[in-house]
Amino acid sequence: HKDDTGRRRVLLKLSGEVFGGGQVGISTDVVRGIAEQIASTIGKVEVAVVVGGGNFFRGAELSEAGMDRSRADNIGMLGTVMNSLALQDFLEQAGIDTRVQSAISMHQVAESYIPRRAIRHMQKDRVVIFGAGAGLPYFSTDTVSAQRALEIHADEVLVAKNGVDGIYTADPNKDPNAERLYNLTYDEALKRNIRVMDQTAFSLCKDNNVTMRVFGMQGEGNVARAILGDQIGTLVTA
Ligand code: UDP
Repeated sequence: HKDDTGRRRVLLKLSGEVFGGGQVGISTDVVRGIAEQIASTIGKVEVAVVVGGGNFFRGAELSEAGMDRSRADNIGMLGTVMNSLALQDFLEQAGIDTRVQSAISMHQVAESYIPRRAIRHMQKDRVVIFGAGAGLPYFSTDTVSAQRALEIHADEVLVAKNGVDGIYTADPNKDPNAERLYNLTYDEALKRNIRVMDQTAFSLCKDNNVTMRVFGMQGEGNVARAILGDQIGTLVTA
C-alpha cells in the first residue's frame, strides 16, 4: 500500500480493565506506565491505540439492569473517550505528540475518525488513539480494533491482557490443566471458542490476513516489547 513507510505499524488494543487496574475509574499509575512504554517505541514503530471502556460502563450490563441497549452502549462508548484522554495526557507528558480520534463527533475534545489522517499522524510520529469504539451500539472495541487495524493498514493487532500471559486452552485462573499456546490459527481460536477477543474480531483478522499477538500486561516492559515485535504471548494467524 502507498502509505507504507517501511516501518512497522501496529494497532494496540487496551481494554478498560487495563486502564482501571481492575477497578472503576482510571488508575493513573497504570496509564502512566503504559504511556511511557509506548513513548519509548515512537520513532521506530507507528502506533495506534484502541481503548475499551469496561472500567466505566459496559452497555450489556446496563441493559441487563433495565436500560435501553442502544443508550447504554452510547454511555459505554463515552467511557472509552475518557480513557483515550487519560492515555493522551500521559503520552504528552512523556513527550509524544498524540491525536485522539473519536467515532462520535465531539470536536472540542477530539478529532473525528478520519483514517487517512490517522495514517498521516503516525507517519509524523504521533500516536493516534481511537475513542468511542465504532460509534455504533451493539459493537465492541474488540471488533473495532480489528476494523481500525485493517483500515489504517496495520501489520499486527496487539492485545494486552490483565492476569494472563497469552492464550491458553482453557482459563488458566480456573482450570489447572490449561495449557499455554504459543501459536494458534484463527480457525482454532474460533473453534475452541477462545474468549480473549470476540469472534467478530477474529473473523475480520482471519479474512483479511492480519496477525494478532495476545500478551500479558504484567511482564516488565511487555507493552513496549510487543510493539517492537518481540515474540511474547501468543501469535494468532490466518
Ligand atoms: N461500545 C459500543 N460500540 C462500540 C464499542 C463499544 O456500543 O463500537 C460500548 C459497549 O457498550 C461496550 C462499551 O462501549 O460495553 C465499552 O467497550 P468494551 O466493552 O468493548 O470495552 P472493554 O471490554 O475493552 O473494556
